[in-house]
Amino acid sequence: MRRKNKKKVCEIMDNFKKVQSLLNDLSIDAVLISNGNNMRYISGFAGETGYVYISKQRHAVITDFRYTIQAEIEAPDYEVITIDNLGYPKAIDDILISDGVKLLGFESEDMLYSNYLQLKEKLNVELIPIRDEITRLRRIKTPQELDYIRRAEAIGDEVFTEILTYIKPGMTEIQIAARIEYLLKMNGAEKSSFPAIVASGINSSMPHAVPSEKKVEEGDFLTLDFGCEYKGYCSDMTRTIVIGKASDKQKEIYNIVLEAQLTALDFIRAGVRGKDVDKVARDIIYGAGYEGCFGHGLGHGVGLFIHEGPRLSPIDDTILEAGMTETVEPGIYIKGFGGVRIEDLVIVTETGCENLTHSDKQLIEL
Ligand code: ZN
Ligand code: ZN
Repeated sequence: MRRKNKKKVCEIMDNFKKVQSLLNDLSIDAVLISNGNNMRYISGFAGETGYVYISKQRHAVITDFRYTIQAEIEAPDYEVITIDNLGYPKAIDDILISDGVKLLGFESEDMLYSNYLQLKEKLNVELIPIRDEITRLRRIKTPQELDYIRRAEAIGDEVFTEILTYIKPGMTEIQIAARIEYLLKMNGAEKSSFPAIVASGINSSMPHAVPSEKKVEEGDFLTLDFGCEYKGYCSDMTRTIVIGKASDKQKEIYNIVLEAQLTALDFIRAGVRGKDVDKVARDIIYGAGYEGCFGHGLGHGVGLFIHEGPRLSPIDDTILEAGMTETVEPGIYIKGFGGVRIEDLVIVTETGCENLTHSDKQLIEL
């Protein structure tokens, strides 16, 4: 147990050094991290409110009384500062003065405009917007992070096996979604990584359909897209099945999506660009006559947040590196008919990928 704690602190210390070298690159004296996932990544603190402050000489978690003890436990090598009733601007001002900070970076893609205005009014420093530089530090996962993601995806596989024995015609999408979320927790998840998508019949033509009171019927496509969090790390998977016997049209669409997915899985590896992986799958779907029926990107990174960069999308030029995660999730969606999506989660390696999703992908007729 003792050794495990030590390892955790070491790993987080490394992340802290990455931020310090970023201070030099961005020519700023200190940075105020407000994105919750970034705070957790850098310091270990997983509370919902506060900031992580890092300068060349000081690193602190600034939070309110509700999270003080949590911060002391989760970020043991950090100074923990609890704000008083004068709020964050006063507490931050005190730190900046004692640290002699003139240029303070903040996460412009995360901080609320109202918080920015409060700080701008109170602080006697120049606020420098930094974009996603901190978030980008999370792109290549450590072995420990990958272990957590593997475990989270394994829970998803287990739940898929169990939910197949539960689904019966006449159940509503909401009932099936509730069961999925229950099973995720019963199999060891902390919580769902996003509200489960359960979309049946024509609802499956909406990629992010919200589960409704519609009952699952014979002949329906049924798309199940869900994931969970384990130690804060997310998983994500999708399977589409048919209730009863699949029609020829359903089989045709399913097999095109499957071919697109398998081809992209075969293509993905370190050194290729996200947009090129997307193109491999997109060409198959468009080439089969379904141009206009695949309106989202092929995939996204997964980590502390469910949708991270880099993305597999026509507009992402990122060259993939070993240790990045990506979902590979092509789909065909036809208005008034239904849709299919098949999604696996992989770790990019030098020679290909490690597929973390092991659930069956041949069309299941339930
Ligand atoms: Zn998904
Ligand atoms: Zn996804």
